Amino acid sequence: MIDQISAWDMPCPAPHLPPLQKGSTPLGWHVVHRFARYRVVAWTCHEHRETWYELCSAGGLVFVRRMTGDPMKPQIAQTDAWCEVEARAVWVALLSGRVR
Ligand SMILES: [Zn+2]
Repeated sequence: MIDQISAWDMPCPAPHLPPLQKGSTPLGWHVVHRFARYRVVAWTCHEHRETWYELCSAGGLVFVRRMTGDPMKPQIAQTDAWCEVEARAVWVALLSGRVR
């Protein structure tokens, strides 16, 4: 017999950020006024969190965008852009609560 899995029991497909660790590093966030073309390559949960993050790639550089509030009209801020290796390291640090 296979147990029925209800939608409520399904784990969220997008990561939830853990609490910020002690001694964490704040990232520099800039308010976004200009919308350039970019591709989202990874993201955190926006269904269960008021603030969510996207790892974005544009023109060979990678940066993190932070969205807060109404999912349809969020306030957006973004970090500086880095090369992919550096940006991946920042993203992993973000997901583990070491930077935010
Ligand atoms: Zn979630």
